[in-house]
Amino acid sequence: MNVEHPGLEMESVAVSYDGNRIVEDVSLSVRPGRMTGLIGPNGAGKSTLLKTVLGLADRDGGVIRLAGRPLEEVPLAERAREMAYAAQGAPVHWPLTVERVVMLGRIPHLGPWQKVTERDREAVARALEMTDSLHLKDRIVTTLSGGERACVMLARTIATDAPLLLVDEPVASLDPAHQLQVMGILKNLAGQGHGVLIVLHDLNLARRFCDDLVLLHDGRVLAQGEPQEVLTDENLAKAYGIRAMRWQAEGEEFIVPREKL
Ligand code: ADP
Ligand code: MG
Repeated sequence: MNVEHPGLEMESVAVSYDGNRIVEDVSLSVRPGRMTGLIGPNGAGKSTLLKTVLGLADRDGGVIRLAGRPLEEVPLAERAREMAYAAQGAPVHWPLTVERVVMLGRIPHLGPWQKVTERDREAVARALEMTDSLHLKDRIVTTLSGGERACVMLARTIATDAPLLLVDEPVASLDPAHQLQVMGILKNLAGQGHGVLIVLHDLNLARRFCDDLVLLHDGRVLAQGEPQEVLTDENLAKAYGIRAMRWQAEGEEFIVPREKL
């Protein structure tokens, strides 16, 4: 990984759907070597923000810079190599083998009509290994359990070998062991120099694994910075309308939503 990669920067980004402002004045960056958590209530605009970066939703204000250049100036094929995206829920309807689904992550590296190379196969094998999914490679993806599928979709994202990873709720609906596994894999990738932007709801996973957090509320950034600066009682009350209990154990703080305000 090139540590000089300037990552992804959003400045005062605004997005509307059908004339309604959904995201307003959002500035954040995804830096190599860092894992940034995007948190906030349902409907806050988290997925919309990710889709905007991918060009799947139209921005109507602000600037997005990818690797130091305005996003508009970066050709689509290059964007696809720079940023790997795992959509929320990411349903799979085609009866493809796991290996082929993960190979889809290599598409940004293939020229038109170009055959899969040894390098692509290696990237796929490495991604399957990293997500403990190698044993699933010949399975039909539609027959997997939710947890297995989540690992395979993460493998597809990893196989892209993109400097930046944008993952939308990769641990929702996973059991605690798979949650820790997926968070650990993403943290390791950040440790290797990737920039990771992860949408998640679990405040404890967010606090423990993310280097910084962005708390979105009604399409705006309510707080951003180190997890403990963001996950204050006041911010949790404002964003989620909850009171949380906190306690310390094993040198860490744990947050448990206690009541709706
Ligand atoms: P989050 O991911 O934070 O839960 P979303 O970004 O999915 O929230 O949605 C933010 C808001 O935008 C919601 O009110 C949602 O209903 C609305 N929205 C999302 N996608 C569309 C769309 N394609 N057309 C119109 N409204 C949308
Ligand atoms: Mg969402």
